[in-house]
Amino acid sequence: MGEIRAGRVPTEYVDAVVVGSGFGGSVATYRLAEAGKQVVLMERGRSYGPGDFARSPAELATAFWDPSEKLYGLFDAWTLRGLEGLVSSGLGGGSLIYANVLLRKDEKWFVNESPLPGGGYESWPIGYRDLEQHYQRVEDMIGVNRYPYPDTAKTNAFEQAARAGGHTVFRPPLAVSFSTDASSPAQPGRMLPLADYGNIHGKPRTTCTLCGECDLGCNSGAKNTLDHNYLSAAAATGNADLRTLHEVRGFSRETDGSWLVRYVVHDPQHPAATGDLPERLIRCAKLLLAAGTFGTSYLLLRNRMTLPGISPALGTRFSSNGDLLGLLFNASEQVEGRTIPRRLYGNHGPVITSTVRVADAADGNGATGRGYYLQDAGYPAFFNWLMELSQFRQALPRAGKVAAKIIENRLFQQNRSSISADLAMALGPGSFSSTALPLLGMGRDVPDGRMYLREGRLAADWTLSTSQEYFESVRGTMRGIGDQLGAAFKDNPLWKAQRVVTVHPLGGAPIGANDRVGVCDPWSAVYGQPGLYVVDGAAMPGPVGPNPSLTIAAMADRACEHLLDQQWASPGAAAGASPADAAAEDTATDAQDPAGLLNPRATSVAFTETMRGHVTLGVGEPKSGLEQASLRHERMMFTLTITAKDIERFTDDPRHPASAEGFLDADVLGGHCPVLRGWFNLFVPDGQQRRLMLYRLHIQSPGGRKLTMVGFKDIQDGPGLDLWPDTTTLFVQLLDGHVFPPPPELPAASGLLASEDPAVLGSGVLYIEPLDFARQLTTFRAQGPRKLQALSAFGGLFLGSLYRSYLAPRRSGKPDHEPA
Ligand SMILES: Cc1cc2nc3c(=O)[nH]c(=O)nc-3n(C[C@H](O)[C@H](O)[C@H](O)COP(=O)(O)OP(=O)(O)OC[C@H]3O[C@@H](n4cnc5c(N)ncnc54)[C@H](O)[C@@H]3O)c2cc1C
Repeated sequence: MGEIRAGRVPTEYVDAVVVGSGFGGSVATYRLAEAGKQVVLMERGRSYGPGDFARSPAELATAFWDPSEKLYGLFDAWTLRGLEGLVSSGLGGGSLIYANVLLRKDEKWFVNESPLPGGGYESWPIGYRDLEQHYQRVEDMIGVNRYPYPDTAKTNAFEQAARAGGHTVFRPPLAVSFSTDASSPAQPGRMLPLADYGNIHGKPRTTCTLCGECDLGCNSGAKNTLDHNYLSAAAATGNADLRTLHEVRGFSRETDGSWLVRYVVHDPQHPAATGDLPERLIRCAKLLLAAGTFGTSYLLLRNRMTLPGISPALGTRFSSNGDLLGLLFNASEQVEGRTIPRRLYGNHGPVITSTVRVADAADGNGATGRGYYLQDAGYPAFFNWLMELSQFRQALPRAGKVAAKIIENRLFQQNRSSISADLAMALGPGSFSSTALPLLGMGRDVPDGRMYLREGRLAADWTLSTSQEYFESVRGTMRGIGDQLGAAFKDNPLWKAQRVVTVHPLGGAPIGANDRVGVCDPWSAVYGQPGLYVVDGAAMPGPVGPNPSLTIAAMADRACEHLLDQQWASPGAAAGASPADAAAEDTATDAQDPAGLLNPRATSVAFTETMRGHVTLGVGEPKSGLEQASLRHERMMFTLTITAKDIERFTDDPRHPASAEGFLDADVLGGHCPVLRGWFNLFVPDGQQRRLMLYRLHIQSPGGRKLTMVGFKDIQDGPGLDLWPDTTTLFVQLLDGHVFPPPPELPAASGLLASEDPAVLGSGVLYIEPLDFARQLTTFRAQGPRKLQALSAFGGLFLGSLYRSYLAPRRSGKPDHEPA
């Protein structure tokens, strides 16, 4: 892996950068490294070996991912419209907290053109045969086994109930080691042999201890998580550099065809929000996105300005893979004519041991509706305590009885010194927790959700209404299993609010037969972006149906094989290629800015202005841009500090030039864009009947694309009271590249280009809202030897210009042509 000094910026160069280390990222890292490619894997989370996972309340309280809150833990929880999502952050991605099930997608569920209730369709451009050998390869590498124990209460109960209800039930392949090798019997807690390729953690692993803690991270190492296989094997090739706490923020394609990747490095010892960390650069020939459905969709949306021509399907086909959590309580059975509790002991065994398959209309066997799977969902033992504590109506009288008994003993039976039986009574029989069993449902919901950015953050439009029939069917089957177990079925509390919890979010950058329906081609290459790939859950064009990890991994394996089969060009590998650093370029020329020339005896005046409105891409005329953007809810805002660095020069110069610093936020640009350099002119007469307030901002999109925002306020007296709308309305255009202001000798103009000019990317209108205006008034500051005079000079110029523009013409009956 070489470091190339390119231009001003020394930038590391590798064959491939893989972003994220879940099922897609780990497979891709290994396949490329195994083929001799130099790969850097960037994983934002930490590395967790056996014994490293949180268990105590204090540890679990910090086991979440949110660097802005100083949290660098394993769980990353999301709340979006219609659903909550849970994903992982750590080396191994979702495999660290998943429930081990590695099922293949059903052959007939690779549907094509099935009409969706909300419009659109689900179309898989690949079929089972395309994935078959890749499924096999992943299963062999990870190591799958069926749950071997015959006497697990929850498993037996679930299977008996399913069979009694007429369902197909079987034990799915699990990525868990139950025995030390294929020929040995299953036994808990036995030392596992080390794989030929070693292990990146260098810690011993044992067979499954049946503790039910799979979803909290496996402290015994029995789970065959990706760090133990794919990532250890990749590291052993010597070609893969696995970097944890490395979070990718942006990327852009360089003119030489290489990809320039921007990333930050987290240091939990010195916590800082991701956005506050300095960005670093790395270049590569191939960039493989595997940051998970949320992570990859967010990165693509955030960087869409650096991906010209990316498919309009970006963000679409979002689905929850039909996830539904149901709860069974108070299972019971008849013994000798009596109804007694049926103990299921949900904490014994791995989380999932067995599965029911409910057929789909696509199976073609007479079934109707959309198919799904149901699975038993075990849990750690400490959940039993939480469940029992939730039953305080029963616990309180018990505790009261015991307290009364102890008092009675004290008063009347002082010779009774053992209170063990009393304490046992206080704890109660534990029936509530031992007769409960959560159930997981997942399947073919309708993939009509869409992810997009709102105020720079990931948002989603998803509702369960189009999948209502599917979800009702899942609930019905869960209830049926509950009936067979003499148990009460309860919805999870979120269902009442018409929300679901998904641990299988999918879609956002779907594969598709062409670039209208898919962001990626059938081999996961992003259409129109040579060298860019999406190899994770985001690439799914619809729900997988069963637990999706194996399909994600198999698709990544297939994508890499295809990629390696093609001629591997290494654009930009030669020294001398120059990744432009826009920030450096812009600040370097700052001294040439007339508004920025500093006279040490000068007094400056500054104020801060916030404007908000709507801007869209693809429309060049601001009012039309506003219309389109409002319909699409595409907002933009900026906050700028305008500084006249030398008030005398500012007032003397008829163009009243000042500098502008701050930021601009626009979801269509990918979110937060720092202003690298900004120009502002107050009330410039344009030689006609108006004065202009001019804005020009050189910005950089999150992906690193250089853009210019030009805007003007049109200050001229018209019929009616137009002073407020004129001074608070800014017509803007977004231009490609950094476009400098015209030379001062040319007559002043709005700065906007003809709508059809190819440099014009978009347009719209921004306004100052009354509250922002009130705030702006409090921000005026002067600095230097003559503060008061400076402020009054600025105020005089401002008010004088307004007087000349609005009141003088009315008094004289003549328009104002006079320069300010
Ligand atoms: C509790 C639970 C149980 C589950 N059980 C099962 C199961 O039994 N079977 C099954 O098939 N699936 C299961 N899943 C789902 C499974 O975990 C996911 O489907 C799978 O992990 C998705 O793989 P992926 O490659 O798309 O992304 P992920 O595995 O989510 O990996 C993405 C990785 O990218 C990293 N990342 C994100 N953004 C960035 C960035 N900007 N820079 C660098 N790194 C980044 C993340 O930290 C993460 O490690 C379960 C999930 C959960 C939460």
